[in-house]
Amino acid sequence: TIDSRAGLKKKGVAIMGGTFDPIHNGHLRTAVDILDGYQYANLRLIPCFQPVHKRQPSITPQQRLDMVKLAISSHDGLLVDDREITREGPSYTADTLREIRAQIGPDEPLVMVLGMDSFLSLPTWHNWQDLIKYAHLFVVSRPGWEPDLISELSSFSENYRASSPHELQCMPSGLVWFETLTPLGISSSMIRSLARKDKSIAYLLPEPVQNYIEKHQLYR
Ligand code: ATP
Ligand code: MG
Repeated sequence: TIDSRAGLKKKGVAIMGGTFDPIHNGHLRTAVDILDGYQYANLRLIPCFQPVHKRQPSITPQQRLDMVKLAISSHDGLLVDDREITREGPSYTADTLREIRAQIGPDEPLVMVLGMDSFLSLPTWHNWQDLIKYAHLFVVSRPGWEPDLISELSSFSENYRASSPHELQCMPSGLVWFETLTPLGISSSMIRSLARKDKSIAYLLPEPVQNYIEKHQLYR
């Protein structure tokens, strides 16, 4: 595809996995910053079926998926990929990246966007050393999380660090890039906690998602 504004060829697949319990403006603004700042044709949000590293959600995977769809319905370039929900079982990122890699072929750049908090937990992920074989890691800062790189991750980051974000579009996988985008101190747990206390969740997430939460009385 051709970017009409810049006249540049768009290349590569950007993805962002998450529990999205619920999706919020921290996720969405990060996704929009990536779409606007780099030449990816689109960004796929991939809600997990069963998170591996945290408490199981109190709502169904279908409800989390519904909210992702509501959040992105009017935004060009943001897509939802429901493969983890369709696959069921524990949602291992390594399985997802392997599947996407098989579909897009060996040469297309694949970029996984993740927040600093997720990156810091990487050494606990299933087959985490394999992730970089399938994709680049695009790590975005998150208020409250410092790149306090413990030994294993600091050598990993140094070994794979890209020299510029654009290098990620010149090869299929294997690089790590750290970026500060719009810093928003919003989390799903904050929203669930407000809803539980019957406080307003307005302006933390898109209005259609807020309405869905209220209509279905989620997180009460
Ligand atoms: P919870 O509070 O339940 O842990 P969360 O807000 O961390 O939820 P997730 O669905 O776990 O949301 O996050 C999915 C991905 O989005 C992760 O890589 C996470 O680091 C990133 N992310 C979430 N919120 C933000 C934010 N405000 N800024 C930057 N990245 C974020
Ligand atoms: Mg979290």
